[in-house]
Amino acid sequence: DDRVARISSAIRVIQDFPKPVIMFQDITTLLLDPKAFKDTIELFVERYKDRDINVVAGIEARGFIFGPPIALAIGAKFVPMRKPKKLPGKVITQEYSLEYGTDKMEMHVGAVQEGERALVVDDLIATGGTLCAAIRLLERVGVHVVECACVIELPELKGRDQLGDKPFFVLVSCW
Ligand code: 5GP
Repeated sequence: DDRVARISSAIRVIQDFPKPVIMFQDITTLLLDPKAFKDTIELFVERYKDRDINVVAGIEARGFIFGPPIALAIGAKFVPMRKPKKLPGKVITQEYSLEYGTDKMEMHVGAVQEGERALVVDDLIATGGTLCAAIRLLERVGVHVVECACVIELPELKGRDQLGDKPFFVLVSCW
């Protein structure tokens, strides 16, 4: 698919951000290319439009860029999965581990209903810890997570393995 090649070349790599040795995959340059951005959304929409998905759960912050246009196109609601203390209403919280320490992810109580079918969206999977936390949070309230979708995968970090048998879809793999 030549759309994937265009998307891949629109992603900028910045060395030593946010700290030495990290090669940061910068999706802001993809957003500057309207054709590549549109292709990104269309590839996801083609895959998910007929899957009876009623929830697109986007992970803060870059899942908030890709998730809403997918949700609108497939006729699903968009649910933000946020960093702690950002959501104003009553929340359900999921703790997860990072390389050093832990973090938390929150979702509004009542945003989703038991039995609904969700797609989880983020820009990138590294170790897989963030997506796992989102899956757990949704499953705790009885939502069926149909699949997780990212624009970029860093396959060397084997994040996909952390997801177990949960289906995972990615557009670009960066070795
Ligand atoms: P994980 O939990 O899979 O280790 O990390 C994934 C999370 O970290 C995602 O929410 C993603 O946005 C962020 N992240 C980690 N590395 C990068 C990177 O190189 N580029 C971007 N855009 N996000 C990253």
